[in-house]
Amino acid sequence: MRGIGPKRAAALRESHIESLVDALLHLPYRYIDLRERHGITNLQLGADALLEGRLEGLSIRPRGYGNFRSASSARLVDANNRRIRVVWFNLPAYTQFPTGEPILLYGKVGSGADGTLEIVHPEVHRIASVELPPIRPVYSLPEEVPQRLFASVVSEGLTRVEALAKLKGGGTGATEIGALPLELGGDAGTQPISAALRYLHRPPADANIEHLNEGDTAAHRTLALDEMFVFQLALCRERARSRRRTGAVMAGPGLTETFKETLPFAPTIAQMRAIEEIAIDLAAPTQMNRLLIGDVGSGKTVVAFWAALRAAEAGYQTAIMAPTELLAEQHQRNFERLCGRLGLMSTLLTGRSTGNERARNLRAIERGDFAVVFGTQALIQEGVRMHKLGLAVIDEQHRFGVFDRARLIALGSQANVLLMTATPIPRSLAQTLFRNLSVSALDEMPPGRTPITTGIFSERAMADVDAIVRGEIAKGNRAYYVLPLIDGSDDEQGEGRASVIAMAKRLNGTLAGARVGMLHGRMRPAEKERAMREFRDGALDVLVSTTVVEVGIDVAEATVMVIVAADRYGMAQLHQLRGRVGRGAAPSRCCLIVSDGARGPALERMQVLARSTNGAEVAHADLRLRGPGDLFGARQTGALPLRFARFIRDWTMIETAADLAERWLERDPKLDRPASSGARAALQRILDSGFSLGDIG
Ligand code: ADP
Ligand code: MG
Repeated sequence: MRGIGPKRAAALRESHIESLVDALLHLPYRYIDLRERHGITNLQLGADALLEGRLEGLSIRPRGYGNFRSASSARLVDANNRRIRVVWFNLPAYTQFPTGEPILLYGKVGSGADGTLEIVHPEVHRIASVELPPIRPVYSLPEEVPQRLFASVVSEGLTRVEALAKLKGGGTGATEIGALPLELGGDAGTQPISAALRYLHRPPADANIEHLNEGDTAAHRTLALDEMFVFQLALCRERARSRRRTGAVMAGPGLTETFKETLPFAPTIAQMRAIEEIAIDLAAPTQMNRLLIGDVGSGKTVVAFWAALRAAEAGYQTAIMAPTELLAEQHQRNFERLCGRLGLMSTLLTGRSTGNERARNLRAIERGDFAVVFGTQALIQEGVRMHKLGLAVIDEQHRFGVFDRARLIALGSQANVLLMTATPIPRSLAQTLFRNLSVSALDEMPPGRTPITTGIFSERAMADVDAIVRGEIAKGNRAYYVLPLIDGSDDEQGEGRASVIAMAKRLNGTLAGARVGMLHGRMRPAEKERAMREFRDGALDVLVSTTVVEVGIDVAEATVMVIVAADRYGMAQLHQLRGRVGRGAAPSRCCLIVSDGARGPALERMQVLARSTNGAEVAHADLRLRGPGDLFGARQTGALPLRFARFIRDWTMIETAADLAERWLERDPKLDRPASSGARAALQRILDSGFSLGDIG
């Protein structure tokens, strides 16, 4: 492309834009309405304004050394002779200012040193010279690539896609981009892809700017449906494939009966149901691929142990992988406690075991000395071989990448798979989204839990929170403080107040006498483990931590969870963090400290949490307030490869996409008809991106 040299190409590649198709799929992240011009009166400090007028009184003053450090200022004068100062810093010397001619100026209204309003570094458009679009798209781009240049790349792409569409008779599926075959698109009521792309990159004069900015137009829905169609195609094919895969047969009963009898508590009805569902899967000769979803504390671990015993009684090994050493260790200890007397041997494999000890352990695992092997990612390192792996359990599975999961499963030739997660996602949605998995849900809490009281506090009320903590410590209980930063050096405001180190220092004063420990990602693994162990065993009263405590830790004496800058987190994460307390019989509290500036949806999220401790309710509210893109954690490995679908509005669309995918596969099971070419290309793109569908969740 003209204008894109090696440097810009490299910058674009960093943003995953390598082709015209990529550029077309890189939608604007916001739109500027050039139809509605503001007068110079009634300008709002901090708001964007689009002003029409002429520049006058240009002055260019050099600042400091050299020609390139300058401050240029001028006045914008509108038709009613009202004026506002306009300022540019360090413009290149050759900059041409369109003084005197009618211009449009777009920028943020600020205030100068003297307190009067001004606009710094506005965009300037000559009204006469260019044909202004009614709505201008703004792209998120690397610094090296100007908006206008990218717009011209997109133009080229649109022209080519439209030419291609015309050649092939229009419609989605007729271009390299659309996946949905034309014959289906009509039924689904979507637009041709080329039309949707033109609408989004070059919105017409009658487009609704709010809908564009919210991603809520028919064009957005077209792209979302197309994308979900591909995703569902992949899932349908994967499900068909996994149904043909053989899995180790484990029919029981035996140990599992004794296990139920010797448990110190009665399983909940939900646990029983999940166990029944798993039993059926394990008794079948095909591979089990089951996702167990259940709120924090709902008792998923016991279900996994039951499955492990069923594997053991059939002569198979089980591997249980957890995301942290602490959790793996906790699981093994619980297993020993609950299943020890059944005469089963288990072992732990983490990064801690090294040298001879590790070698000995590996040999024993390979010999089949252990019925259950607990571990972290160390389980999938080089050199680990199982004797006869029949069941792979992955706890907090959203913490692992797809490759990690695949590697664990590959340790056995016919391993059944049980994935566990506390991601608060409604079961029906999980089933639709993950059609390649069967889903069991623990929708009930074990009895005897005292519900957690959640309160919202302002930053100024920190002393009240400390008082609550002091009271609990006096009763022999423990508290967590969770903060978003480690030492504040990465804090934009440079305050560092919201940091682990600053908080620990502060608490040493305000909680005088309490034993305060820290836990964060910059500590060495051994230090982390020690802090956690001391907290668990009661050698520490308070653990000040980053969100590393989020996952699975079970300390019954912890009764207070203080979350600082709670508005910075998503609801699912807050719910997980809160789940670290309320694990014993004593009543527990969660204190959400909200930043002073927080308002709107952020506050609403806190209020939902204060009202409800039910994960499903929290999930529903989260879907309503944010959309599940965030719920899944778009940045997490193994997250859904969906870029256009925001399920808050696309929920029913998932069903539509799934039905379309099933119908299409009936017509073209191998996807080798010409109408499937778009779908094939799109599937390939998903797979090329490193996404494996064998075990999503
Ligand atoms: P999660 O689903 O979050 O992984 P866990 O499996 O860690 O939850 O269980 C939380 C706690 O509840 C554990 O201490 C466990 O022993 C206990 N528990 C599990 N099932 C029951 C039950 N049916 N009755 C009472 N306590 C239970
Ligand atoms: Mg758990």
